[in-house]
Amino acid sequence: MRKPKLRELREAVKAFVKGPYTTKFPKVPSIPPETFRGKPKYDEEGCVGCGACAQVCPSAAIELIDERGKGPTGTRRLVLHYDLCHFCGQCEANCITEEGIKLSLEYDLATYDRRETVESVEKELLFCEFCGAPVTAVDHLRWLARKLGPLAFSNQALILVSHKELALVEKTAPRDKRPVWRTDYMRILCPKCRREVIYTEEWGT
Ligand code: SF4
Ligand code: SF4
Repeated sequence: MRKPKLRELREAVKAFVKGPYTTKFPKVPSIPPETFRGKPKYDEEGCVGCGACAQVCPSAAIELIDERGKGPTGTRRLVLHYDLCHFCGQCEANCITEEGIKLSLEYDLATYDRRETVESVEKELLFCEFCGAPVTAVDHLRWLARKLGPLAFSNQALILVSHKELALVEKTAPRDKRPVWRTDYMRILCPKCRREVIYTEEWGT
């Protein structure tokens, strides 16, 4: 019994002389290691709005909100609620550009208002010219076209987006009210309507 008591006393004197082992946070900020997984942050330039991060997030912390604007385009917003995030890093690991979202070193995230705990990015969104379903973000198609190089010319949406970027196509061609047909081939279409164009073209049904 006597020995442990002496040891504790020695530890207490040592701690009194050397000072506490714990950090002085929040008075003095604590510096996390480089591999620390803190608040995920979007990078406006690096993100192309594909939505893969929202799909892989295991805690459903990322909302994907598609809204139609006045013209043929709209807005895709990715809203990350970091009060739901458990900092697993899946969004960063699965980001198609590897630069769209990264876990930062920020750890002091306490707040009285959970509505403040959001991180978001906004991208221009394209809709199917026939049925109006959202297709994907313009930046996503541009990124794919650049990534595929000449192979991108096998996909009509990629051709159109690349041509628009080069100002070779200025605006969307008008269309009449008849069902989707061969002349709609060179349009921005959702997968379902593109299938319809191809079936109609091949089998006439
Ligand atoms: S770190 Fe994990 S939980 Fe947090 S947003 Fe990314 S995927 Fe979701
Ligand atoms: S580019 Fe990366 S960060 Fe942006 S939506 Fe896609 S997966 Fe998420």
